[in-house]
Amino acid sequence: MQGPPYAPELFAQSQAEKERIAGERMAQNRRMAEEGRAERTREERAALRPTVGAWVAQSPVLIPKEEGWWIHVPFECRVVIRGKAEDRRLAEPDLRVGTFDLNAASTVGAAWQGKRCIGIKTIRDARENEKREKALRTVAKKQRKSGRAVKGERSNRSLWNYIRNLDDSLAWQIASAIVTWAVALGLEVLVFEHLRPYRPRRGLSWSRRTNRKRSYWLRGKVVKRVRYLALIHGILVVERNPAWTSRACPKCHRLAERFSPGGTGYPSRLACGHYGWTGDANVAAALNLKPKWDRTFRYPTKEEVQVAAEPRRAGNGGAASGANDRTADAPGAQSPCGGAGKTDTAA
Ligand SMILES: [Zn+2]
Repeated sequence: MQGPPYAPELFAQSQAEKERIAGERMAQNRRMAEEGRAERTREERAALRPTVGAWVAQSPVLIPKEEGWWIHVPFECRVVIRGKAEDRRLAEPDLRVGTFDLNAASTVGAAWQGKRCIGIKTIRDARENEKREKALRTVAKKQRKSGRAVKGERSNRSLWNYIRNLDDSLAWQIASAIVTWAVALGLEVLVFEHLRPYRPRRGLSWSRRTNRKRSYWLRGKVVKRVRYLALIHGILVVERNPAWTSRACPKCHRLAERFSPGGTGYPSRLACGHYGWTGDANVAAALNLKPKWDRTFRYPTKEEVQVAAEPRRAGNGGAASGANDRTADAPGAQSPCGGAGKTDTAA
């Protein structure tokens, strides 16, 4: 029989807690018999519940797998939550909050205490993203060679397994990195962008499109796992509408221009024409989620949106073209800006 290295300690902890509860129950029963009571008091019932932070094993489940049988043992742990996120936001102005921007190749987090930013953290996963795209290219190549897929029959099984496992472990890795950082900085609420359904960009190859789709799914998976891991530490997770967060200047909150440092390729930088703020667009998106959390985010006016669309209409397309497949963006950033003759209407 094999098990994870941390299992003996967990089971020992669980056993000690179960023995404490059993001892407490016996003592209570004796006392109740002496006093002639049939019902437990509130304090007595509370004493029978597991201690906060202690892991208690539940009924094991036997699972048949290809290579044998697995025993899964669920563990339960009591966690103290100090009120709802929204109530705490209003009651505690100095609440430590983290705002996060999830991307295909990196995750940026910003930590806040009140209005002050106390830290920025970047978690990169570009290499895993490349690995996935490479595996998907192999799938496409093999599929082309073998012709049309047979209905009801799985093809490239081991490759798909590899991709699934890659995504699964990556989601855990990112989530755990986020929560470890949040615990280290004493954050109590984590704010993520609310993810909308994925809308693919036209004109991409199957493998590239599928890779983007999967990396977008991955973000949902990461948030789900962050919720779970954070709750163990009593940290809450909330979502906010991300509209305009990757286009607004984090200093003056007016619309800024996205550009790529080399002049071509993905516009990863953001420059503000009003205040002169220049920086990474992903960092700006994480910073901009803070006013969303505070509900003080200033949305651009119709005129500002029109003005921001002007230079692109004039054919200076480099700035916006790469931002198109950020589905979380505002409608203005969605429209593909193609050749010189095309108009790019910010709907
Ligand atoms: Zn600005």
